[in-house]
Amino acid sequence: MTEKLYYSDSHIREFDAEVLSCEPSGGRFAVELTRTAFFPEGGGQCADTGTLGDAEVLDVQEVGGRIIHYCASPLSAGACVHGALDWGKRFQNMQSHSAEHIVSGLIHNRFGFENTGFHLGADGMIVDFSGFVTPEELGEIELAANGIIWQNRKISTFFPSPDELRRYAYRSKLSLTENVRLVEIEGVDLCACCAPHVNETGEIGLVRIYESQRRKDGVRIRMLAGKAALADYLTKEREALRISNLLSSRVEDISSAAERILAERDSLAYRLRGFELKALDELISTASAERGSFIRFFDSLPQEDMLRIIKGVAPRFERVAAVFTGSDEAGYKFIIASESVALREKLDSVRRKFTVKGGGSDKMVQGSIIGSREDIENTVGGW
Ligand SMILES: [Zn+2]
Repeated sequence: MTEKLYYSDSHIREFDAEVLSCEPSGGRFAVELTRTAFFPEGGGQCADTGTLGDAEVLDVQEVGGRIIHYCASPLSAGACVHGALDWGKRFQNMQSHSAEHIVSGLIHNRFGFENTGFHLGADGMIVDFSGFVTPEELGEIELAANGIIWQNRKISTFFPSPDELRRYAYRSKLSLTENVRLVEIEGVDLCACCAPHVNETGEIGLVRIYESQRRKDGVRIRMLAGKAALADYLTKEREALRISNLLSSRVEDISSAAERILAERDSLAYRLRGFELKALDELISTASAERGSFIRFFDSLPQEDMLRIIKGVAPRFERVAAVFTGSDEAGYKFIIASESVALREKLDSVRRKFTVKGGGSDKMVQGSIIGSREDIENTVGGW
């Protein structure tokens, strides 16, 4: 049985232990120790990582009551080994998890709702509650939670006897009666939990509830604590300053500056469309029908504009009216219309010469074609 050092002291970063066993396991090595400070994945918190001697600890799992360290390289059974946690990751996990206890405890005390799901990942925490809490109420909870952090309250853990346990009102996801580890945050929360936490709430630094959404009868919140909350603040501040510089606006006013620019963009787009339609109509009205066929190439033209031109010119041309958009390299999209030429047949006859996709009726075909503009123009011009 491995001694769980993280139970007696959550701030142990390095330790020495004896290797009880080391077995190959799916490309990694499953190592069991006499004692460990590595917390195995559990209670929504991910496993610690770090090193055992020269071996990298990739994952830690509790399997049938045994703590298994999955290492990148093997260790010798019987050897003494020095373990070192990735302390930055572990401390962040403890900041986050302890903040979650405060928020869940406050919500439980005020509304009676239970925490029904908890996930602690690299990108923050997701916590589900059994009842709905409005964003305004969550704002009050967030402020109260930060107040408890500033008061630097004690966080302690203990294992009550089954008799003692019956006298406690505590939050728990499981109905265990033996070996229940209770985590107490002075005056705020009492909860059954196996994970390591900080010793005083002040170590959390900051908690920020940044998103909430209704889920069935409850609410899902996303939050950040400690260094992760500061990192998020810095990222958002950097982005806000960039936008502020781009819009030549104070940070406090960037959303109204962005709204103004979007409104200007919409108005310009509306005016631009007016000019485009005028140009298209001019093209249609001035198209000379002398040559019998109308064939035009564009670099880029939307489908609706291609159709507008075809419908406008086709009745005036004896042979075909054809519009192409694209390039020799990327290929062309086309719409071709005719009252006198059997277009489907004509299109089929050039499928060997060009790569052609699409089809249609004898009066109108559309699709895409790959070939040089000159070749296409000469071919369709001969229809
Ligand atoms: Zn916990």
